[in-house]
Amino acid sequence: MAISDQEQTYQDWLNRTEQLAGNGFANQAFIDGQYCDAVSGATFECISPRDGQLLTRIAACDEADVDNAVAAARAAFEAGVWSGLMPKQRKKILQAFATELEAHADELALLESLDMGMTISDSRTMNLPGAVECVSWYAELADKLYDEIAPTQPNALTRIHRVPVGVVAAIVPWNYPLMIACWKAAPALAAGNSVVLKPAEQSSLTAIRMAELAHKAGIPAGVFNVVPGMGDVAGRALGMHMDVDALAFTGSSRVGGLYMQYAGQSNLKRVALECGGKTPNIVLDDVEDLDKAAAAVVMGAFSNQGQICNAGSRLIVDRQVHQPLMEKVKALAETIVPADPLDPATAFSCLVDARHTVNVLKYVELGKDDGAQLVCGGAQESGTGRQCYVQPTIFDNVSADMPIAREEIFGPVLSVIPVDSPEEAIDVANSTVYGLGAAVWTRDMRRMEQAARAINAGVIWVNCHDHGDISSPVGGFKQSGFGRDKSIHALDKYVEYKTVWIDLSP
Ligand code: NAD
Repeated sequence: MAISDQEQTYQDWLNRTEQLAGNGFANQAFIDGQYCDAVSGATFECISPRDGQLLTRIAACDEADVDNAVAAARAAFEAGVWSGLMPKQRKKILQAFATELEAHADELALLESLDMGMTISDSRTMNLPGAVECVSWYAELADKLYDEIAPTQPNALTRIHRVPVGVVAAIVPWNYPLMIACWKAAPALAAGNSVVLKPAEQSSLTAIRMAELAHKAGIPAGVFNVVPGMGDVAGRALGMHMDVDALAFTGSSRVGGLYMQYAGQSNLKRVALECGGKTPNIVLDDVEDLDKAAAAVVMGAFSNQGQICNAGSRLIVDRQVHQPLMEKVKALAETIVPADPLDPATAFSCLVDARHTVNVLKYVELGKDDGAQLVCGGAQESGTGRQCYVQPTIFDNVSADMPIAREEIFGPVLSVIPVDSPEEAIDVANSTVYGLGAAVWTRDMRRMEQAARAINAGVIWVNCHDHGDISSPVGGFKQSGFGRDKSIHALDKYVEYKTVWIDLSP
């Protein structure tokens, strides 16, 4: 099922769903080059949030399975079947892997939409191309990395080598499952490591399929393993494992903190964390194009149902433009109607699962109780199978100390905070524990630069929001984590720097 040139209709995707379900979803762990059940035989339910229906039951890995996966990864690493290849050989195989992903793009896009509710249009036009581009970008990088010679002394040769760390555990969230898995696995593999990937329990299907495609592309057995399972079981087992060398995590700041504890309680494995955010969109009184800003605010808050680490969940707006901007934002938001993710016309669908929906709705109630002004939305859809559909919600006149302005909701809830000056906007922007991204809208170069310097965040956008490219890093300040995904800087998480000092004195 490759991406076809022709646009596919809603009915096409429904037919493909039936076809996939008829064939049975791949639902096992992938360890040492083959699919296997969990050693315990345990499974967990995989329920689609689009209609509440059971898709399949997935192998629930525990310590025994994680042990097997890490042992396979270690054995492959030590045998040099991947780590010992010439970089250009790894490049070729990773390129073949990207080609496999691309050839199965429609199938993978559909699996993602069924599993966690991403709209098929986002899944097919962003998530999948993003994953393919990522793998092919790191494939290309594999044989273009040079080591260094340090300018030490005339009588010494001081070489600095980049060497793979060994066994990398990648723990990923459910919001862009395949793309984020590739952000971890592709640079780790390009650098010569073996990888054990643990997908989020809400979204395991693409990771499971991806492992088989990697193997088909020529990645040797044991080099890329997938262990689906619960976070506090399979994830914890990876975090505590004495033979995992590095751990790359994306998820909430709370769980990120747990991984630091696991590392401290086990073998001091290196940890890199990509965690939560509460991204501010700051619109100053000299904003050049209010329509463009309004569209970006709405996109930024409600894409993927607000389930984006960089979702612009805080609109910090100068009172001079507050009212005209809010009129536009409200009008745009009110055009958004939650609908089936499998319809290509759908721009906004369901949340990932019932538990998360309850949590998002709790914040809506909290906003009301705290006296924020509900501008639109706030309701859950009614009807069988509609439990995870929540309207885009906007609260105006939010004060910066309210929980809806400070805590990550990770759903379609926008908090609007009016301010009186650029200085106050920056103070409010910096007033949460997060520092993942921030956007500022102004036509004044000095204000742009002041904001870019003063806001503590990993990415600052000026007159746009959440733009990105595989060549530019993402990652956070403060409790948004440390380490970077994407770009050449991602490699730092997966290599050790080894110095070789040769004395050349006579
Ligand atoms: P989460 O922290 O609940 O889960 C992330 C991963 O950790 C999952 O694989 C999960 O199974 C595992 N996990 C959960 N509890 C665990 C435990 N007790 N011990 C070990 N592992 C455990 O996050 P989520 O709900 O899957 O994803 C949403 C979060 O991810 C948000 O905070 C979002 O901002 C963040 N995120 C960050 C980025 C980024 O680039 N910074 C990107 C996407 C998502």
